[in-house]
Amino acid sequence: QRLENSFAELRRFAADASHELRTPLTALRAEGEVALNNAREPEQFRQSIGAMLEEAQRLQDLVDSLLTLARAEADQQPLNRVPVELGTLTGEVVESLRILADEKQQYLTVETDGDITLAADATLLRHALLNLVHNAICYTPDGGRITVRCSRRDREAVIEVADTGEGIAPEQQAKVFERFYRVDKSRSRAEGGAGLGLAIARLAVERHGGWIELESELGKGSLFRIVLSASH
Ligand code: ADP
Repeated sequence: QRLENSFAELRRFAADASHELRTPLTALRAEGEVALNNAREPEQFRQSIGAMLEEAQRLQDLVDSLLTLARAEADQQPLNRVPVELGTLTGEVVESLRILADEKQQYLTVETDGDITLAADATLLRHALLNLVHNAICYTPDGGRITVRCSRRDREAVIEVADTGEGIAPEQQAKVFERFYRVDKSRSRAEGGAGLGLAIARLAVERHGGWIELESELGKGSLFRIVLSASH
């Protein structure tokens, strides 16, 4: 039964991945064909090339995400654990995304509770956090508030990403961590998401022996909490 389930899972994954790859490919070809048939002026060509590059970037992001997921899933690869100070890591992630929050006039802040250093795979953990903060920016309207908090809880280290965004309905809360799952397919697609971000974040945290908790209320906001053992 377990084998049967994993084959079914694999088939679903291949079907979903092909579907996701086909959409930007179709858009890329259509844009090229229209330009070849209709464009006359250099400006028209330039616009078409720009649109094609955007689709190519989308493909690139998708393939990168799939690769990250595959690598993180290959359990046999040991984690490259090094001392990571959570406040520093969080600060770097937030600064790299600040421009996106600024564009939406959002208040993006970091709160840290002293030095919290643990042994972690910095690349994987950064990736998880990047996806959570990126989502918080994406799914929070202009002028909203996003707060990233690092703290210690008994023997655990905790990173919370809280937003005042659209929130996630209770029946969707488990599903958003599935690969390719998007609550609002059309809207999320326009923002460039393929529904892989949370699947990657969860896997990255689980590989550290931790987990992600989600508290959310529709219309009020969401809180994603990464919990890691601080004893490593
Ligand atoms: P995507 O690439 O679509 O962002 P994710 O796996 O990161 O994929 O997220 C899956 C879905 O979960 C998103 O499409 C969105 O509907 C929902 N979601 C994720 N983060 C948030 C958030 N902070 N607030 C509201 N909805 C969210």
